[in-house]
Amino acid sequence: LPGGVDLDVAVAEGARAYELDRAHVFHSWSAQGSLTPMTVIAAEGSYVWDGEGNRLLDFSSQLVNTNIGHQHPKVVAAIAEQAAKLCTVAPQHVNAARSEAARLIAERTPGDLNRIFFTNGGADAVEHAVRMARLHTGKHKVLARYRGYHGGTDLAVNLTGDPRRFPSDRGAHGVVHFNGPFLYRSVFHSQTPEQECERALEELRRVIELEGPGTIAAVILESIPGTAGIMIPPPGYLAGVRDLCTEFGIVMIADEVMAGFGRSGKWFSIEHATTEAGPVVPDLMTFAKGVNSGYVPVGGVAINDAIAATFTDRVYPGGLTYSGHPLATASIVATINAMEDEDVVGNAARIGADVIGPTLARMRDAHPSIGEVRGAGVFWAIELVKDRETREPLAAYGGSSPAMAETIAACRKGGLLPFANFNRIHVVPPCNIGAADVEEGLRILDEALFVADAHTA
Ligand code: PLP
Repeated sequence: LPGGVDLDVAVAEGARAYELDRAHVFHSWSAQGSLTPMTVIAAEGSYVWDGEGNRLLDFSSQLVNTNIGHQHPKVVAAIAEQAAKLCTVAPQHVNAARSEAARLIAERTPGDLNRIFFTNGGADAVEHAVRMARLHTGKHKVLARYRGYHGGTDLAVNLTGDPRRFPSDRGAHGVVHFNGPFLYRSVFHSQTPEQECERALEELRRVIELEGPGTIAAVILESIPGTAGIMIPPPGYLAGVRDLCTEFGIVMIADEVMAGFGRSGKWFSIEHATTEAGPVVPDLMTFAKGVNSGYVPVGGVAINDAIAATFTDRVYPGGLTYSGHPLATASIVATINAMEDEDVVGNAARIGADVIGPTLARMRDAHPSIGEVRGAGVFWAIELVKDRETREPLAAYGGSSPAMAETIAACRKGGLLPFANFNRIHVVPPCNIGAADVEEGLRILDEALFVADAHTA
């Protein structure tokens, strides 16, 4: 195993870990009684090893997170070096790793997103972005997209636009959802991307006007919705959202927690919306995951100059003990530098354009269970259906099905760990994966999809 670990010893430790896990660990998003979680005993690059010692290609990137793969030696070394120097420091003090991480992020975010507030992950970044928007505008409501995901904490899960919010949804005060563009399942009955764009922008304008622009602090949306299905917005949509926010004095929050830091083949997925008129620049941008590939928990909010200025003389009422934690920020510095040195973002773009996109297009022609494939970079979704004509999904929205479970099991049996959600399988390997590994993973997926085909009409 990587790191010279003995396989038999690791498997034995894994078995013990499984017993203890089932006795003492409380898992997220799960009914605890019916769980059979996979044990991971090791990982390296684009591979993980399960509890039996089987090597699996990690096409999940651990919740779309390890953009530079597992155990990148430069990042592991940077964390160890920082740990030897200074493990923790309170947020009010200055720390070299934090200062440098903030500079590296601010230099890559678009426009005047020049200041970085560090959090412990994505959901609390969303919570703070909304708080900043509310204090900056003096308004309260937040508009969020259906078919979006913003995290599992109280406000973030209520902003989330899928059925997972229902059990904890007390109708968070001031949260209003709207439909964004999604041509394959268009609620606007559009036939073309242009129609879908125009109608989705009309819908947002209507919601703003009906809710009252004077009451709305922010619009939050993922630049490319990830967990909800990797729907690349049609050209002009994000620029249109930007214009509406500007027109009505609403803060635009782009959530780049999943799509950011190379995943889509650009540093940030909002860069896909750039036109001759220039880039689309949100007022606040949230990030986490790929910023350091999750080696140490961290996230944050990139803040524009106008919102930062709100808090020049006024106290920002919020903070976290671990904000800008030295181990996290040292790992950010090492990650971004490694991504630059190894052209990880360029690799993601090329793998998407040359390998994943064309291969998935061929697979769509071969498998009746594939309704649509869509994506960019190493950020792709396969929408599985029972019937291509009716587009009936292979699992209900918000649910699971034996057909999906069997397809996922076939992937695992073939040596692939996929990311699956409802009726979709996402192809989201590390951004620095090589072409041969991607091709091998897609071959396993291709085989597994015959299982899904057997459930089609
Ligand atoms: N925002 C988006 C777009 C996400 O995809 C996620 C997590 O998947 C979050 C926020 C929440 O991040 P975290 O799980 O780190 O709290």
